[in-house]
Amino acid sequence: MRLRNITGSREAIAGSPYVVPEALMCQCPGRWREMFGNGNPIHIEIGMGKGKFIHTMAKGHPHINYVGIEKYSSVLIRAVHKMEAEELPNLKFLRMDAEDIGKVFGAGEVDRIYLNFSDPWPKDRHAKRRLPSRQFLARFRVILKPGSRLEFKTDNRELFDFALEELSPAGWAADEVTYDLHSDPRLMEGNVMTEYEEKFSCLGNPICKYISRPGQ
Ligand code: SAM
Repeated sequence: MRLRNITGSREAIAGSPYVVPEALMCQCPGRWREMFGNGNPIHIEIGMGKGKFIHTMAKGHPHINYVGIEKYSSVLIRAVHKMEAEELPNLKFLRMDAEDIGKVFGAGEVDRIYLNFSDPWPKDRHAKRRLPSRQFLARFRVILKPGSRLEFKTDNRELFDFALEELSPAGWAADEVTYDLHSDPRLMEGNVMTEYEEKFSCLGNPICKYISRPGQ
C-alpha cells in the first residue's frame, strides 16, 4: 500500500477509543472476551488497510467480535474515521506489527483469521515478512482455536502460489482453493470485497483464495 504520511494520525490513533492503547496491549492475552463484554467468537483481520472489509463484516455479523490489525497509523486512521461515522460495539483496532501477534492474543483465543491482499514482499530474502509465510503460520497456529480457519485472498498469483507451498511444511492443510473467486458462486457466498479486491477485480485480475486449518 502506498503510504502518505497523514499529519497527526499517530496522535489521533493514540487518543481514539476504538484503538487499544499500546500500553494496554500486554494485558490483552486471554482477556478479549472481557474487553468486548461478551463471549462471542473473535475474528481478526491482519493488515486490514483502511478497514472496509472488517467494518462491513462487523456490521453484518453483530454476534462476532472483530479485531482489525494494521501496522501504520496513516492507514489505520481511515478505519478509525469509518468508526467515527458509524460506531460498532463489536469492532476494535490494534496498531501493531503482526510479528508480535502472540503478545496480544492468548493460545486458542482467536476463532478465525483473515489475510486480505497481504503485501507481497517480492524479494526472496524478505519471504519471512509475507503474512502467509510459514513463520507467520507458526504464530497463527498458537492463537487460533483448534479446528479454526485462516482465509487468504489476493490477486497476486506469485504470492498465492508461495502461500499454498508454505501450508504443508507448516503443517496446515487447504480445505478450499480457488484461482478465480468471483467466478465461484459457492465461495462467493457472503464474500465482502476489500478495497484492494474492488480495485484489482475492476482491472480484470482474478482473485485467488484459500481456506486453511492447522493440523493437530
Ligand atoms: N487488506 C486491505 C485490502 O485488502 O484492501 C489492505 C491491503 S494492503 C496491500 C496491506 C496492508 O497490510 C497494508 O495496510 C500494510 O500496512 C499492512 N501490513 C503489512 N504487513 C503488516 C504487518 N506485519 N502487520 C500489520 N499490518 C501489516
